[in-house]
Amino acid sequence: GLKVAAGMGRLGTETAFEVLARAKALEAQGRSIINLGIGQPDFSTPGHIVEAAVKALADGHHGYTPAQGIPELRRAISIDLHRRHGVTVDPVQVLVVPGGKVTMFFAISMFGEPGAEIIYPNPGFPIYESVIRYTGATAVPLPLREATGFALTAEDVLARITPRTRLLILNSPANPTGGVVPRAEIDKLVAGLAHHPHVAVMSDEIYGEMLYDGAEHVSLLTYPELADRLILLDGFSKTYAMTGWRLGYGVWPKALLPLAERLAVNSHSCVNAAAQWAGIAALEGPRAPARQMVDAFAERRGRIVAALNRLPGVSCVTPGGAFYVFPNITGTGMDSRTLQARLLDEAGIATIAGTSFGAEGEGYLRLSYAASLEAIDEAMGRFGEFLARNT
Ligand code: PLP
Repeated sequence: GLKVAAGMGRLGTETAFEVLARAKALEAQGRSIINLGIGQPDFSTPGHIVEAAVKALADGHHGYTPAQGIPELRRAISIDLHRRHGVTVDPVQVLVVPGGKVTMFFAISMFGEPGAEIIYPNPGFPIYESVIRYTGATAVPLPLREATGFALTAEDVLARITPRTRLLILNSPANPTGGVVPRAEIDKLVAGLAHHPHVAVMSDEIYGEMLYDGAEHVSLLTYPELADRLILLDGFSKTYAMTGWRLGYGVWPKALLPLAERLAVNSHSCVNAAAQWAGIAALEGPRAPARQMVDAFAERRGRIVAALNRLPGVSCVTPGGAFYVFPNITGTGMDSRTLQARLLDEAGIATIAGTSFGAEGEGYLRLSYAASLEAIDEAMGRFGEFLARNT
């Protein structure tokens, strides 16, 4: 038979896509399924962004673009980063890519190989661990705990650094927990990293504009002492409800950008031109649609956290960001995978087992509240009835 590369056997996946497929299959059988599984806004992309893409196509933007992205978009990203974080980023450091995930793949493949160690949050976005293992590097989990609101502590991170550590992956606000790392902890971490100049940092800030109750997003970009080793991951998928457009970017240290660009040329060449023009409209156009989305998420967050805390055997901390809740379900007597499977099959609610985000996620479930209030109410009602039948 065919012999594929060994790394293929180490690639993981994102359970969200499997749950989505199973939910769609059940729906095709006529079942009513409420999808709190997949992590995408339930809003359409704002109209002015769509119009910019249509105009770009009509205007003839049909060809390849520079691999780094069109200069107009890289400049708009630089201006947006200044607006949000108060820092000046040279547009030459920006690499536009087809989705935030691509910056992740590039950064991890740039540093990962057998013998190298990469520290990543657990529970965390599952693709971190998957790609680390794919490269043959050792995946070093950074456990995140409910007691600290699922935010890392600097001490925990620094204790895991060895001479073999190449890359540290950070994610705040976080998927799957909604945890937000406080400024004081980031200050401590950055101070500690001064003793480990061999460690690069990839900061995944894709939920950086989804914050509630005055929670503060502290971008790693605001620490000039990290400038020569920080890779910032950001993008348009969440903030502008553009998951299907595949548009994201990385900000790279000047010395690493040519390597990242080479990875781009060797893989996707460039992002489709119309999506890039749409990205400019997103950054330069009215901010109200993005703000209204966050306001809607804030209301839904309150609704779902309150409902979860009324369920027997379930408790849920209030997350500061993103659009996920990560309730503790140990009191139900079921493990994460069992509860995920039974909620889908017996109650018609798609959720994701905490263990899909790493071993440290056992005892938890991830629910996305990027769904209407009616859908959330109905799902919580079904969840309650399911528990009443089964506990
Ligand atoms: N980073 C985190 C933490 C995410 O949750 C996601 C999407 O779910 C991504 C990156 C990838 O975003 P994109 O769809 O832009 O590739």
